[in-house]
Amino acid sequence: MNRQFDIIIVGAGAAGLAAGIHGAEHGAEVLILEHMDRAGKKLLATGNGKCNFTNEKQGIAYYRGKDPAFVLPALEQFGLRETLDFFRKLGILPKSRRDGYYYPASGQAASVREVLLMECRRRNVTIACDVGIRSIQKQGEFFLFRTKQGEYTGRACIIATGGKAARKTGSDGSGFPYIVGFGHKLTDIVPALVQLQGKQSFLREIAGIRAEALAELYINHEKIAEDLGELQLTETGVSGIPVFQISRYAAYGLLQGKQVMVSLNFLPDYSDKQTKELLRERFVIYGEGKTAEESLIGLFPAKLNRVLLKESGISPDEKASECRKQKLDRLAFLIRHLRVDITGTRGFEQAQVTAGGVDTGEICPKTMESRLVPGLFFAGEVMDIDGMCGGYNLQWAWSSGYVAGKSAAEYRKRKSIQGGHKSRNRVKK
Ligand SMILES: Cc1cc2nc3c(=O)[nH]c(=O)nc-3n(C[C@H](O)[C@H](O)[C@H](O)COP(=O)(O)OP(=O)(O)OC[C@H]3O[C@@H](n4cnc5c(N)ncnc54)[C@H](O)[C@@H]3O)c2cc1C
Repeated sequence: MNRQFDIIIVGAGAAGLAAGIHGAEHGAEVLILEHMDRAGKKLLATGNGKCNFTNEKQGIAYYRGKDPAFVLPALEQFGLRETLDFFRKLGILPKSRRDGYYYPASGQAASVREVLLMECRRRNVTIACDVGIRSIQKQGEFFLFRTKQGEYTGRACIIATGGKAARKTGSDGSGFPYIVGFGHKLTDIVPALVQLQGKQSFLREIAGIRAEALAELYINHEKIAEDLGELQLTETGVSGIPVFQISRYAAYGLLQGKQVMVSLNFLPDYSDKQTKELLRERFVIYGEGKTAEESLIGLFPAKLNRVLLKESGISPDEKASECRKQKLDRLAFLIRHLRVDITGTRGFEQAQVTAGGVDTGEICPKTMESRLVPGLFFAGEVMDIDGMCGGYNLQWAWSSGYVAGKSAAEYRKRKSIQGGHKSRNRVKK
């Protein structure tokens, strides 16, 4: 049996659910096809299980892609205020942290998923899980979906299949072939918001420490990006929010075969000169009776102190007051410029998002409709837009989901009027 709907959405993640709700709100009968056993699996993992669903600070600066300005019309239609109102009406009391990150007051990502599913039920959005799509084709005015479970027809189609990050939550890249099949181009795809792998052997000695630092990314010796925050050092590389924020650029640099290096600055508030003075104070003025290692106690975590001394050629047992100026200058330099040569990133499995996706030059930013195939829309991470850490990727899912859902509903209304009849989709589900 072929069942007919106004809008058929592929993917019941954050963007697909948002598109479904807003499509139904604008009068469309909506079906969401999801290949996992449950909808919204990735949402449960967001924000360490707490779901950082948006951020007080918004703007183009928080989004990346070939054309970051692509996000603006969607954010204008459904930005921070609309997102907070939407979730408040659904039952989520937004709680903001001092840094502007918003979480549900429940502290549970599960509640965000639950209210979205409740709203889908309330608006009669049908979600079919465990669906294996064999093909999607446009036949005349309609999209025909052939699945293992049967056939479906939709006036409009929204692709919201995400990228390739965290495959176990369902985003395995299997949506991309449908998109290419419609003639759309994809930009290069790389893992983003992800740990970087480094070459230096000292990483094994400092693994496990966390320290405030500025991470500066250099590609072919040119500074490309930087971010300040709590750095995490692992046996194989560098991690933590500042590294996540610069990781997409590193991933693209590596993809293009360029030399990628991260310089770590553990005293970003000091100049090189002030750092030298600080070391002179600790080693020379107050260093009497102390070893070099003892002179650094209280400055950085102990493991980091040892590595910095070793890399500067200073023995930890050396008398502090007898350390040569040349070595102290080298130590001062390393404190602000510890070099980690980047050999790779962790894979999509460990990444929080995918950078790259459907080329946004082929999508109308005001409607999310394909410029190539009328009636085909996109929502969420599947497009070449990735946000910074801080709730921006979910904000993009809500904003683009709203626009795609609303525009697809308007599209089918126009088509129904043009066709001189209401759409034929009143077959029992
Ligand atoms: C561990 C982790 C933590 C994160 N934390 C945050 C956070 O706190 N804040 C934030 O803003 N962002 C966070 N993100 C990123 C954010 O979750 C995503 O950017 C967002 O979920 C993307 O939504 P989406 O709907 O576009 O894609 P997805 O959430 O990936 O959803 C895509 C859906 O499509 C389905 N699908 C895929 N292919 C097919 C197919 N062929 N047929 C049918 N269905 C298909 C998938 O199963 C999935 O349900 C985090 C990501 C991870 C992995």
